[in-house]
Amino acid sequence: MTDSSTAAPAPKPWILGIAPYVPGRATSEDGRKVVKLSSNENPFGTPEAARDAYRSAASELERYPDAAAIELRAKLAAHYGVEADRLIYGTGSDEVLHLAAGTFAGPGDEIIHVRYGFAVYEIATRRVGAMPVIAPDRDYATDVDAILAAVTERTRVVFVANPNNPTGTYTDGGEIARLHAGLPRHVLLVLDQAYTEYLEAEDDDGGLELARTQPNVLVTRTFSKIFGLASERIGWGYASTEIIDAMHRIRAPFAFGIGAQRAAIAALGDDGFVTRSREHNREWRDWFTDAMTAIGLRVVPSKANFVLVLFEGALTAEVAYHALMAAGYATRWLPGQGLPHGLRITIGTKHELRAVADVLAAEVQKAG
Ligand SMILES: *Cc1c(COP(=O)(O)O)cnc(C)c1O
Repeated sequence: MTDSSTAAPAPKPWILGIAPYVPGRATSEDGRKVVKLSSNENPFGTPEAARDAYRSAASELERYPDAAAIELRAKLAAHYGVEADRLIYGTGSDEVLHLAAGTFAGPGDEIIHVRYGFAVYEIATRRVGAMPVIAPDRDYATDVDAILAAVTERTRVVFVANPNNPTGTYTDGGEIARLHAGLPRHVLLVLDQAYTEYLEAEDDDGGLELARTQPNVLVTRTFSKIFGLASERIGWGYASTEIIDAMHRIRAPFAFGIGAQRAAIAALGDDGFVTRSREHNREWRDWFTDAMTAIGLRVVPSKANFVLVLFEGALTAEVAYHALMAAGYATRWLPGQGLPHGLRITIGTKHELRAVADVLAAEVQKAG
């Protein structure tokens, strides 16, 4: 018999195989508040109308929110031209990614993601007892052939972020179509479009159209990035009725609160905010990329609201990370994701980016 004084509940072995998610820092090691360029949040904040809508919920906090998010789904349907009854939603698109893994994979199954992919994919995979399979990159970009080569009869899901995080790289519509065409029909292709609003109009990867017409494509979106509502945890997904019906069975009944739903609806109505955010991002991403190139640092070509800067010379990413932190700027150093030589830096305000560029220029010079 087991000794009852030492026995304790045993976590499933696949749960203990999960390395905890590390969020972007908002403080330095010694607890000072710093400028946060580590989580790809919107430097313009939140649309004013969304703040007002959120405040209006304060008088109804004793009520459960609308579990079916009917108004928000209707607004999403009108805004994006999707069917309201083919939407899933969750506390952040993170949860939608978990729902996808939990609905379509379990112990013995495999889920593919790219080598430098979003950290949540591996957690969502292991959480359900499935095995992560890593497809090598092509100079940091998503390699469709490598993903297709990684498919086995156990593959159930493929996670692809476009643009990808932490690389910022973009896979065009032709490549996404080729990926989809090469996958067996029983494999769910999850296209994570968390940064899609930062793309130029001509850069449509065709994800929504694939999700509309194909039985095995789920597109995920979020209000956390360009819409400036990361705190409220509002994510959604679009796929076939069959996929969505299955996923709804395991979601939390009340995914997001009244304030979140109202704020999201209001944010969708402020196209000016989104346009301003995108234009600022393009201008200052280009400026920052040029500034890094001028001091000899390589930047992975990005279409997102952040860039991955590579430290391949005398100055290491670790030294640069600590120098920036000391100067009051939190960036994301990613040794845990196989990028000990990379810093992911969010496109902040022009003032912030100028300061970051100055610190890095000084560090490059110091390192000789
Ligand atoms: C930020 C991000 C998300 C979204 O997270 P939320 O849970 O919606 O805040 C999803 N995928 C990628 C690739 C991201 O970078």
